[in-house]
Amino acid sequence: HAKPSPDVLADIVTKAHAKFKGVKEGANADYIPILTEVPSDLFGIVIITRDGKVYQAGDTDYSFSIQSVSKPFNAALVMQEQGAEALQEKIGVEPTGLPFNSKLALEIMPARSVNPLVNAGAIASVSMVDAKDEAQRWDKVRSNINDFAGAELTLLDKVYTSEYETSWSNRGIANLLFNYGRLYSEPEEALRVYTKMCSLGVNTEQLAMMGATLANHGVNPKTGKRVLDAEHVSKLLAVMLTAGFYDESGIWSYTAGLPAKTGVGGGIVAVVPGEMAIAAFSPRLNKAGNSIRAMKAINYISKELHLNIFEGV
Ligand code: GLN
Repeated sequence: HAKPSPDVLADIVTKAHAKFKGVKEGANADYIPILTEVPSDLFGIVIITRDGKVYQAGDTDYSFSIQSVSKPFNAALVMQEQGAEALQEKIGVEPTGLPFNSKLALEIMPARSVNPLVNAGAIASVSMVDAKDEAQRWDKVRSNINDFAGAELTLLDKVYTSEYETSWSNRGIANLLFNYGRLYSEPEEALRVYTKMCSLGVNTEQLAMMGATLANHGVNPKTGKRVLDAEHVSKLLAVMLTAGFYDESGIWSYTAGLPAKTGVGGGIVAVVPGEMAIAAFSPRLNKAGNSIRAMKAINYISKELHLNIFEGV
């Protein structure tokens, strides 16, 4: 594809927003009770190019919980600290083809290998962060995500409490992992830090900046800080392409052709490697826990601008 001009980018976010604004399908996540209170009509889209230019439409400064969109960024921290092979061996990189909260994946995948973008692998990636205690673990997890965003994200306390108090499924996953020798800290500690990571508040622009850092080969375009080595970026994007949408990862790659990650807070970030990131936020989800309007908006932008990474190569 031709490199889109600033006018084209400004125009496409406005068009995507107008085109899908009226879509009402789906519903807020409700297994984390407080997420039902997020206004369902919010809808924001942001593109940030590799050089840090921002194009936006809609409710782009509303802070929502980052949820699973945090997962690849914490996997990045583990790669940066311990190398790509440690991630591959101690967690795994195979798509599960199963829902994000699957316990079955832990039982049926070879050698209990999952990937860092489903709950099991993400809880394991939090447990792998090198830390002397829980406070330091949380501090490292949080600062790394701040570095990707180029901003100080705040913990949404109410989201954290609401999720942690109802975390029976994730607690089960953490305990199963520990039982199989696939968790690398005490289970409840990993669960708490994982749940806090998911409860960080992020707006659509900050989310796009996180993606733009990956598009810029690991250097945050706003702060100039290297957050991830370039050799790890390509590996992380490969996992995002194959597993970023859980059991909808195939159809996502088939249609949008972009590495991306979703979260039940309604956020999605997609990366056009070497060029830009597209983030979108809308709370109503489909059955797989993926934001319907955010998916539609990013898919539309990808098609209109021919951003599919396999197109025209
Ligand atoms: N914190 C959520 C959970 O663990 C994240 C899930 C998601 O965004 N898909 O269930």
